[in-house]
Amino acid sequence: MPVRVVLKPGREKPARLRHPWIFSGAVQRIDGDVIEGGIADVVSAQGEFLARGYVNRRSQITVRLLTWDETESIDTAFWRSRLERAIRARPEAGSACRLVNAESDGLPGLVVDRYGAWIVVQALTLGIERIKQELADLLGGLTKASGIYERSDVDVREKEGLPQAKGCLHGEEPPSEIEIAERGAAGQELRFLVDVKRGHKTGFYLDQSENRRKVAALEECKDAEVLNLFSYTGAFACHALTAGARRAVNVDSSAEALALAGRHVELNGFAARAEDFVEGDVFGVLRRFRAEGRVFDVVIADPPKFVHTAGQIEKASRAYKDLNLVSMQILRPGGCLATFSCSGLVSPDLFQKIVFGAALDAGRDAQIVEKLSQASDHPILLSFPEAEYLKGLVCRVC
Ligand code: SAH
Repeated sequence: MPVRVVLKPGREKPARLRHPWIFSGAVQRIDGDVIEGGIADVVSAQGEFLARGYVNRRSQITVRLLTWDETESIDTAFWRSRLERAIRARPEAGSACRLVNAESDGLPGLVVDRYGAWIVVQALTLGIERIKQELADLLGGLTKASGIYERSDVDVREKEGLPQAKGCLHGEEPPSEIEIAERGAAGQELRFLVDVKRGHKTGFYLDQSENRRKVAALEECKDAEVLNLFSYTGAFACHALTAGARRAVNVDSSAEALALAGRHVELNGFAARAEDFVEGDVFGVLRRFRAEGRVFDVVIADPPKFVHTAGQIEKASRAYKDLNLVSMQILRPGGCLATFSCSGLVSPDLFQKIVFGAALDAGRDAQIVEKLSQASDHPILLSFPEAEYLKGLVCRVC
């Protein structure tokens, strides 16, 4: 007798619409001997089969759904076929890309990124944690990777009752620098060094790879002075320089990230001048630049996630507005602002309103010339719109 999660009357609609989460508030009771992280059937109050997934009673998301087909069992063959499907959907080209985007690839709680011959995985839920070794071995066979490294050192694991974890799961331990190639605006190959053991996320912001190319392709980048705010390891700056920018100034609070940004600029064939790497708080640096009367042709603003809970939206909106306001003020007339938000709780609509508010207060007319989203290897499952988190606006500011 399988474990059965019985829903409260009238609470089966999201599951019928193939949303992959069952929240604890929708659960009436659980019949059978639950193994935390193990498989269970979800049934309506009338006992009708709805879907099958893995359970964690410690999480507010009691079940993450894996299949809506009653005849499909969740076994090694299931995991292999889901992994295969996700990997097959990724382009052959490019040495770094996301292979598995969790819920959107039918694998809730699992993120898999490829950096050259190496694979990095994140197990975000207990259901994935329990079988991560099996998944790593399957991935090793499917990708022939030299090694698979785990970067489950993320706060969200706490909500699942899990400690953070990192280390090698399969094959060899990756080196501290993996060189990857990223396609530039005119088809050039840009070179970057990724530390998958210590870098942000799984080592690199793969979600911005297409946006780096699109921003660099702007006419406004030619011969331009570019300001790259929240630069991390300077990837946007390297793309802009490769596309013909005269100069790119990087600002970040991390000296270590800036040091690597300098190496990236040189690795891509440009001179790295100390004054183009500014260590400090972006909000303070922007005000200083404004006071000094410094101006730029292109400003790129790619801040970290400001909103983690719904309660933070208002305060974060003010921070986004302030950031965009000063960014517009230091743009030359006709310059471009490429501004991003990776806070999933800030909708594209709200973000656009915030940027509009910033333009009003800056006294500048701005046009949206392009709307940006996350790279296509970070797909958004239609039944799971929560997967859309990154949005960007390219604005021409008059
Ligand atoms: N655009 C980058 C990714 C940016 S990640 C890329 O394409 O790779 C966000 C960066 O913002 C991190 O490097 C972090 O160190 C930096 N950061 C966060 N808060 C900051 C602040 N208040 N001032 C300056 N940098 C900040």
